[in-house]
Amino acid sequence: MGTSKRLRLATVWLSGCSGCHMSFLDQDERLIELAGKVHLVYSPIADIKAFPEDVAITLVEGAVGNEEQLALIRQVRARTKILVSLGDCAVTGNVTALRNGFTDSAKSILERAYVETADINPQVPTDVPQLLDQARALHELVKVDCYIPGCPPSADLINYVLTELLSGRTPSMEGKSKYG
Ligand code: SF4
Repeated sequence: MGTSKRLRLATVWLSGCSGCHMSFLDQDERLIELAGKVHLVYSPIADIKAFPEDVAITLVEGAVGNEEQLALIRQVRARTKILVSLGDCAVTGNVTALRNGFTDSAKSILERAYVETADINPQVPTDVPQLLDQARALHELVKVDCYIPGCPPSADLINYVLTELLSGRTPSMEGKSKYG
């Protein structure tokens, strides 16, 4: 089958540990079946630089933690038909949002990372993306169409959701385990 008949699929990695992408890869041989149905147009596992237009389904791992990610998630939303929040960091903020309880968390994190714990040349860099004051779950910033909870979600759950979406059905989480 040529790529023109396949649905355009993307995966995005924001502020997460990559565990959700590892779980995606844990679909193992089911990935071969998936590859027959989709054209992977953007993903950290494919190293494509620019987020493309006209994407059918995008899975997003991680919360939104900085200005660069905020711009990307807005672009993803504008160019994606079905946006899927993949994993607890994307769904609730989870680990990424632990810093939110601290006053002025963005400033204190940078100070801790680059000044207080530096052995040489302590200074906060200016050429990294600006941290948001708080890490945000995706739905706080853009419309989300589907949620896959879990830390990470099981490969079985990811496969179930993808299979349903690719078949034009709405996945139901009723009775589904996050952890397989
Ligand atoms: Fe990592 Fe869990 Fe967050 Fe996924 S939900 S990015 S596995 S910490």
